[in-house]
Amino acid sequence: MMGNMRKIIILIGVSLLILFSCYIVFDDSSLTREEKEYLKHKKEIVFVSQINYPPFEFLSDRLESSGMMVELARLMSTEFGFESRFINTTFARAQQMILNGEADVLTSFFFSEERNKKFNFTKVVFEIPASIFVKQDNDDIKKLSDLHGKRVAIQKGDYAIDFIKSKGIRIDLIETDDFIMATNKLIKGEVEAVIGDDQIIFYYLSRNNLVSELKVVGEPLYIGENCMATRKSEKILVSILNKGINLAKKKGYLDSINRKWIGERVTFAKYMKKFFGLMLIPLSILLLIVFVFWIWNLNLRKRVEERTKQLSEKNKELALNNSKLNAILSASPDGIGVMNMNMELVFISDKLAKMYKIEPEKKFEYLNKNITDFVDESYRDKMMKNISDIFEGKKYWNLSEYLVRDAYGEQFWVEVSSSLLYDDAQKPYGILFVERDCTERKRIEQQLLDYNEKLKENNRALNELKTKEEEANIAKSNFLAIISHELRTPLNGVLGLLELIHKDPERFNEFFPVILSSGEQLRVLINDISDLTKVEQGKLELVEKRFSISNFINEIVSYAKIKIQDSNLELVVDIEQFEGYLEGDAVRLRQVVYNLINNAIKYTDNGFVKVVIRKLFENDKIMRIYFEVTDTGIGISPNDIDNIFKPFKRLDGSYTKKRYGSGIGLYISKAILNMMNSNINVESEVGKGSKFYFKLDLKRSIPDSEIKEEISDEIFNLKALVVDDNKINLFVAENMLAKLGVAVDFAENGMVAIEKVSNNHYDFIMMDLQMPEMDGLEATRRILDMGKDVKIFAMTANVYKDDIQKALNAGMVDFCPKPFTLSFLKSLLSRHFK
Ligand code: ADP
Repeated sequence: MMGNMRKIIILIGVSLLILFSCYIVFDDSSLTREEKEYLKHKKEIVFVSQINYPPFEFLSDRLESSGMMVELARLMSTEFGFESRFINTTFARAQQMILNGEADVLTSFFFSEERNKKFNFTKVVFEIPASIFVKQDNDDIKKLSDLHGKRVAIQKGDYAIDFIKSKGIRIDLIETDDFIMATNKLIKGEVEAVIGDDQIIFYYLSRNNLVSELKVVGEPLYIGENCMATRKSEKILVSILNKGINLAKKKGYLDSINRKWIGERVTFAKYMKKFFGLMLIPLSILLLIVFVFWIWNLNLRKRVEERTKQLSEKNKELALNNSKLNAILSASPDGIGVMNMNMELVFISDKLAKMYKIEPEKKFEYLNKNITDFVDESYRDKMMKNISDIFEGKKYWNLSEYLVRDAYGEQFWVEVSSSLLYDDAQKPYGILFVERDCTERKRIEQQLLDYNEKLKENNRALNELKTKEEEANIAKSNFLAIISHELRTPLNGVLGLLELIHKDPERFNEFFPVILSSGEQLRVLINDISDLTKVEQGKLELVEKRFSISNFINEIVSYAKIKIQDSNLELVVDIEQFEGYLEGDAVRLRQVVYNLINNAIKYTDNGFVKVVIRKLFENDKIMRIYFEVTDTGIGISPNDIDNIFKPFKRLDGSYTKKRYGSGIGLYISKAILNMMNSNINVESEVGKGSKFYFKLDLKRSIPDSEIKEEISDEIFNLKALVVDDNKINLFVAENMLAKLGVAVDFAENGMVAIEKVSNNHYDFIMMDLQMPEMDGLEATRRILDMGKDVKIFAMTANVYKDDIQKALNAGMVDFCPKPFTLSFLKSLLSRHFK
């Protein structure tokens, strides 16, 4: 506002200065060099005036040239500094003097077009209005038309007579020699009005104190133009005279001349003239100011337009730069942002917004938000610490990983590099940060860590496996060493004694029991190895059958009694009375208890072996039985307790080594009991003895009359074919079957068997499964395809479920696991041929 005011004041000042300068530069009253030269060469200017034309010009009483025009001429002479001479003569002579060069200037000469042809006129010096004069008390005549029919006096030959005629007004005209005579006639009342030049009549009235007698009415009829004149050729002189007139006007000389000669009588026209004269300068100033304002306004508008154009171009440029900058920022694979010193966001690039799932149109809602609002609480402290480090100048640049949250609160990982921003005065004003989504790097990193962990685990497992394998290898070596040793002992017994019998048949009865027991040892060993393999392969199976619990316990007691016979030990039996039938694998259970009794006897030198069997619980569904075998033997140290259940683990010590054993028994026993949902327990003290015990739930079976466990000796009149590639097996089978009254034929493989079957009739065939040429399954299928009515039993060392299934599928009807006993053969034959 103040600025505008100041501008306006300066503008007005400048305008005034310009105006003043114009006034000086366009001075219409100073002489040019040419005009000055003219006056210099002209010795004097001769002015010629009329003798009696007051107040404009006349010869005074003292015979001096006087009057308004003469005074003006004298003034010019003084102002411009030229010599002048004044002559007074008649009007006609005066004109003549100008035209013939006797005088230079006609001082008072009314302008007319006619005169202008011969003379050169100056500008108008005085305007002489011609008015209607009436007596002061005359109210009839107020305007020109009121003169109609009135007596009016006018100077002879005056233009007023023609003017009134031209207006169509008919007056009673009284012509006089001059205006003074006409005026006197009016004063005397001889006429009603006078029409004449204002200045001349007023001059006369004022000189004679008659001004109050008359008045002017209406508007002036016309205005005469009183000028100076020269010869037609005097152009420079007219220009000098004009400047003299200007100077007289400007300096107020003309006004004072007027006042001096005519007095203050100002007509309306004069008023106007004066008013405009007075107002000319302020009006000019005002107009100039308006003009200057207008120009200034135009200029301002132009400048505003130019500025607007510039700004719009600047804006375009800025928009272009902005879009370029955005394009650059968008091209960056990272999100870019700026925060101020209050940690408020002040810039978010499109990429950054996208990373945080901020919709582009909502981007501005996120400005001014605190940067820590976006980081997960768990990382807020870390971020605050890093930012304050940068602000405090401890770090100029920083790279960190943060867990952050997007606009929907979803977590993701970012890697952020940030640095301090400085303004032109090197004052920090914020932080620029560049973010990269590293969730996928992080994920891979985690995967790698997991993978690494898995690798380690696998390595551990591999190492364990390796250790186990090594252990297994050692165990296998031990096993082979033990087996070969254990086999050799009874084999030596059998073969050695058979050789002796062969040489000395008389000693058969003496050696036979030893041979039998050695054979029995071999059978047990082979059974154990077979069981061990089954346990190792997870193929040990329980065969649940109905059995008499009292018979079962009786068998155990008998077995213990027989076993203990060869030792110095006492057998203590603490067994309850049992009744009824149970469902379970009596064979396997018996194997466990026999093993415990064997061990007790084997590892005890003195004292007793006690067998305890008690009923712990019984209802109509189950019977819980407690088994215990206690001895007063060598005992087992606490460190060894776990080892005794491992395969082939036999405790160190010469004592153990003296006893026959494979180190498999307890391993198998434990496995069997585990399958029966039981567990074997040991309490032992070295040198005092051991107690092995377990409890077992067995299903109760429907009560029944006695079941014959043993089959009485019987003779079967049957004919059999035994198919086996092993001659010893054939020999054993032949002898056992012969004991049961069965006639036996042999075949060493499947092909031979088929041939024999096609030529002979057999009631049953005992078929080995694994044979060269043709195996047992194939031979069975072919024999049955021949339509032969024959029962085929599988002879096999491994009776696994899938072997059974294969055999049944081939058409076999039962099994004969090797090695078999006489009683097994008996029960097999009675099952199929009774
Ligand atoms: P084996 O008796 O054939 O060696 P076992 O598996 O039955 O194999 O027993 C493993 C080991 O446990 C034996 O070698 C022996 O060292 C120890 N052992 C078993 N029973 C007894 C016992 N009643 N008293 C002392 N030591 C025993």
